[in-house]
Amino acid sequence: MPQAISTDVVIVGAGPTGLMLASCLSKLGVGAVIVDGKSGPTRESRALVLQARTMEIYDQLGLVDRVLAQAEIASSIVPGFGKKSFAPVNLRRLATGVTPYPHLYVLEQSKNERLLVDHLREQGRDVRWNCELESIEEVAGNGVRVACRTSDGEALTITARYCVGADGSSSAVRRLTGVEFEGKTNEHTFYVLDATGVRGLQHGSINLRFGERDFLLTFPMDSTDHERLLGVVRTTDRTKVDEAVARDTLARAFGITYGTSVWFSTYRVHHRVARQFRSGPVFLAGDAAHVHSPVGAQGMNTGLQDAHNLAAKIADVVFGRAADAYLDRYEAERRPVARRLVSTTDTMFGVVTSDRLLARMIRRSFIPVFAPLAASIAPRLPGPSRIFEYLSQTRIHYWMSDEARQNARGRRGSVVGRRLPWNGDNFDSLRSMAWQVHAYGDVPAESVRELQLALALPILTFATTRNRKLASGMLYLVRPDGFVAAAATPDDAPATFAGALADPLRAG
Ligand SMILES: Cc1cc2nc3c(=O)[nH]c(=O)nc-3n(C[C@H](O)[C@H](O)[C@H](O)COP(=O)(O)OP(=O)(O)OC[C@H]3O[C@@H](n4cnc5c(N)ncnc54)[C@H](O)[C@@H]3O)c2cc1C
Repeated sequence: MPQAISTDVVIVGAGPTGLMLASCLSKLGVGAVIVDGKSGPTRESRALVLQARTMEIYDQLGLVDRVLAQAEIASSIVPGFGKKSFAPVNLRRLATGVTPYPHLYVLEQSKNERLLVDHLREQGRDVRWNCELESIEEVAGNGVRVACRTSDGEALTITARYCVGADGSSSAVRRLTGVEFEGKTNEHTFYVLDATGVRGLQHGSINLRFGERDFLLTFPMDSTDHERLLGVVRTTDRTKVDEAVARDTLARAFGITYGTSVWFSTYRVHHRVARQFRSGPVFLAGDAAHVHSPVGAQGMNTGLQDAHNLAAKIADVVFGRAADAYLDRYEAERRPVARRLVSTTDTMFGVVTSDRLLARMIRRSFIPVFAPLAASIAPRLPGPSRIFEYLSQTRIHYWMSDEARQNARGRRGSVVGRRLPWNGDNFDSLRSMAWQVHAYGDVPAESVRELQLALALPILTFATTRNRKLASGMLYLVRPDGFVAAAATPDDAPATFAGALADPLRAG
């Protein structure tokens, strides 16, 4: 008997991106149905690292303690060349004052998925597993009709206002909506190996080892000697890559040995971005929208943040706080992030894998001399390190509108358009995932009262500013996703914030 359901949002794909989207929509009270062709969450470890910005999102969802209870903390990165390690770069020192989460948090993809599935279930929402997308049809002026089929052969039709393709790099949603996936596939093949009994590297840290021809990235998977090893195999014929090749490369180039492997896989690296992240009522997020090399450990994090960004906007539209066209801001904000990431990781990947003589010479003579120097200097630089901010994805900037972009003539501010700077005490209120105003330092109580009456938004006051980016006497309008939409003095705040809040509505 064919089934039919109607909801606000249908999410295709229950990987990390789809599950995060479903969790955020659940928190925001938006109806959603999530389907996946698989029978349950992935069992493979796959992506491993959670960056600080993702931890802040888990905090907003009330899940950060569960993540911390399971995650392995990597508090340093150990660079090296060949069989030699250099002094570790301490992340906590680089991260001082930036975020409550100053490390890299190793929690494999399968555990992230399980955690989000359990959380959804606690909210009374469940994934429809064994349910594969077959077709998407736009309903004139009124959303989409998505046809799925269960593994028992049953048909399921879901009618929704919006459909989000979070169905991975081979996205059927992307294909069915005719969106191009622009970019290239790298000639090299990566191996990923989860192994126990690993010897020859620094445990509890991320090891980044270069060789004249090889490259190795390692992540601690638990507090013993269980590690993720990731490197490049120099062949275009992936069928010939087996574990013995990786074992041999590890021993020969890096002096690393291991006992048994828990998981071994190879894959080709793609650097691609979808031409559009939105096509009418259909959106793309996560690997469906962008794929790149795992250098930098950003892939899963970027998908999780796409989901968070999109969920907040969908909620504003569904509850009538913004017009449908406000959702165009999703592509305007997240596609540039993806493009920059793909281009950076592509360049980095090229540097570490290039087989040209010059590149090999640079790796052989430059890295052994300058890497230890850079590692010892970086933590001593004044202020929070840009490197950590980039790596942790806490430095992302969005233009709040096309007008703001034109007026700024390309100069990005340090607060507006970025996630709210951390003041040590100002992140708890973000757990509401609601529009709010923050007032720092010396703001007259009368101004706060007047603003509250004018905007009908919660206003949080903080007596002192401990982050030099937040000026005393200033007010900040903060979006549900924690990004700062506008900043103003007490006198200007009513008009400036009313204008910023009207922007989403004007978008229609
Ligand atoms: C071997 C391997 C190792 C990796 N290692 C790393 C790493 O070390 N670091 C890193 O950052 N990233 C890594 N990645 C990438 C990382 O796994 C992805 O960035 C991440 O999984 C993206 O999540 P997603 O939810 O967008 O897509 P996916 O995890 O691919 O999830 C897509 C979901 O959609 C479902 N689906 C697909 N088609 C349909 C359909 N037609 N109907 C219904 N459901 C459908 C799938 O079953 C799947 O559950 C690795 C990937 C692989 C394959």
